Amino acid sequence: MKGLLDQQFENGGVIITKVDDLLNWSRLSSLFPMTFGLACCAIEFMSTGSTVYDMDRFGMVPRASPRQSDVMIVSGTVTFKMADRIKQLYEQMSEPRYVISMGSCSNCGGPYWQHGYHVVKGVDRIIPVDVYVPGCPPRPEALIGGILKLHEKIRSESRMKPTAIEQLMNKDPQHA
Ligand code: SF4
Repeated sequence: MKGLLDQQFENGGVIITKVDDLLNWSRLSSLFPMTFGLACCAIEFMSTGSTVYDMDRFGMVPRASPRQSDVMIVSGTVTFKMADRIKQLYEQMSEPRYVISMGSCSNCGGPYWQHGYHVVKGVDRIIPVDVYVPGCPPRPEALIGGILKLHEKIRSESRMKPTAIEQLMNKDPQHA
């Protein structure tokens, strides 16, 4: 789908594509991140939304409600006190949902890894993570790199492929 709309349309403007490609293209072009931050990394997240870096050009519009969001950017230190709240917010998000872990604290506990008794050693211990962005803090360019990685992942998804459970259910028991 890349650059498709920039090309001149021929043959009566008819486009033939796969449903997967169309859904993935629309999905990755309109990611709605949830508006929340946990610590210093959140400042870089906010900078990414500023006019200099312009997150809107990727179709990203931060939403104040998890029910209207499909990507969670975990920016900051995940304390045990916050872990339950993060999990609850994740579960309230609409499907399909994605998680970007931004910065060392969220990735693995960061500078609190050794002595931070109050810090979860990686947000992936409480929710699944799709993309990790390294750094303390990562600059907005690094977060944009993570967003583009997430685009790559979404571009390769398929709604048409049967899941492993469906495959097992449909398997002929005589040939199992
Ligand atoms: S990774 Fe560094 S900048 Fe980010 S929240 Fe942790 S201490 Fe702050």
